[in-house]
Amino acid sequence: MKLVRAILLLLVLWPARLHALDPAALPRCQARTCLALDLWLPSDFADADWLTTQLEVANDRLAVIQTGVQVAAIHLLPGELGQIDTVAQRNRLGQLGRQTPLRWFVVRHLADAEDPAAIRKGVTWRDGDAFWVIESQTGMRWVLAHELGHVLGLAHSKEAASIMNKTPRVWPPPWQIGFTARERPILQRTLQRLVRAGRLQLRKE
Ligand SMILES: [Zn+2]
Repeated sequence: MKLVRAILLLLVLWPARLHALDPAALPRCQARTCLALDLWLPSDFADADWLTTQLEVANDRLAVIQTGVQVAAIHLLPGELGQIDTVAQRNRLGQLGRQTPLRWFVVRHLADAEDPAAIRKGVTWRDGDAFWVIESQTGMRWVLAHELGHVLGLAHSKEAASIMNKTPRVWPPPWQIGFTARERPILQRTLQRLVRAGRLQLRKE
């Protein structure tokens, strides 16, 4: 009986073990200004390479304003929020870790808010002054960077070279798409405002 109980306990704890993903194993911010990012993952998520790419692309694009992000902590999402189908679930994510200003929720599936049959790759969801990034684990490499653009005050763009432009296009090539000269002052102003207001936190060494 004791053995059965031990095995059951092991099975219960097993998914958490996959989350032994360590923030220190993810890319570090090398910029002058580093924002702390709290990461939330479904219990079965184990794709460190995907996380690494998202962070590398975000930090590469934010380098134009001498800014970057770094994961400060990794948390487990409650099972029922591993997949986000409704607006109510998006709002429930916002109840998690409210004391941490910048939250990145990676979920298995993210449905469109209006059309549940449509799939979204990422969204910056807001409730009053609060905001949080929700991203599907199927998001392309630039999705976190794009969402951080929204966090830092940018709307969608028609500029061909902007990462905030969602229109499929063949030019410029992906590595030349980032935050444009027009967008950088907006990013900088919003960053300063949100840090001053305590809505973004700088990384603690
Ligand atoms: Zn967007």
